[in-house]
Amino acid sequence: MDSSFIEKNVLLLRKLRMLNIEINNTLSSDLSGIRQLYFMKKEKLREEKEGIILKGENVKKAIEAENRKIYEFNNLIKTNDSISEDDLEVLKLKIMLSEKKISEYEKDLIEYDKDIEGINSSILRLSNLFNVDDSDKFAENNENAVVVDLYKSVNYIKEMLNSGVLCKYNQIVENFEKNMYKYPVAAIVNGFCENCNIAVPVQNEIDVLKLKEYIMCEICGCFLVDVIKS
Ligand SMILES: [Zn+2]
Repeated sequence: MDSSFIEKNVLLLRKLRMLNIEINNTLSSDLSGIRQLYFMKKEKLREEKEGIILKGENVKKAIEAENRKIYEFNNLIKTNDSISEDDLEVLKLKIMLSEKKISEYEKDLIEYDKDIEGINSSILRLSNLFNVDDSDKFAENNENAVVVDLYKSVNYIKEMLNSGVLCKYNQIVENFEKNMYKYPVAAIVNGFCENCNIAVPVQNEIDVLKLKEYIMCEICGCFLVDVIKS
């Protein structure tokens, strides 16, 4: 790949790093607290949703099993000419029982769907509260004009990034929500990754300064774009 092209993108990433640091410094500790809470809450909702989906799958399997039973009972009735009146009664009862179970399972499935819908809208509400791509909503919720402007600058720079790099950046941000890391783009500060605080190989420092390739932290996966010695 064209090295000046990479250089341009790394320099844009450096700007993003500065902006992200500024946003973090500007957000009051309260707001950072709320933000962390939001990440945790969203994660919990996602887990809850997965649990319900799993329950739904199990119920669907149970419905299949009951349907199989009904099929077999019906087969017994059809193929066995010498079936006694009592046995026939028992089989019919069993079929009714399976049908009753199925209708209850189906009610469960409807409930699960409603639960999932509820969780989805809660996740959406939480996302909107801290949606960095929607500055207006962020302002409504936070009334912090400085931060809104900073986010606008972030979006402006993101638009200039190469789409592959942007895709990677967004992916990192998404993963960081789960891991609670702060910065998708970091510097190597005195030999340590600014984001995860773990030592970075010296070769990475040399490569970062060359601006000839994209360097990622091997531990936390963030972009490493600058070297700072203090
Ligand atoms: Zn790191």
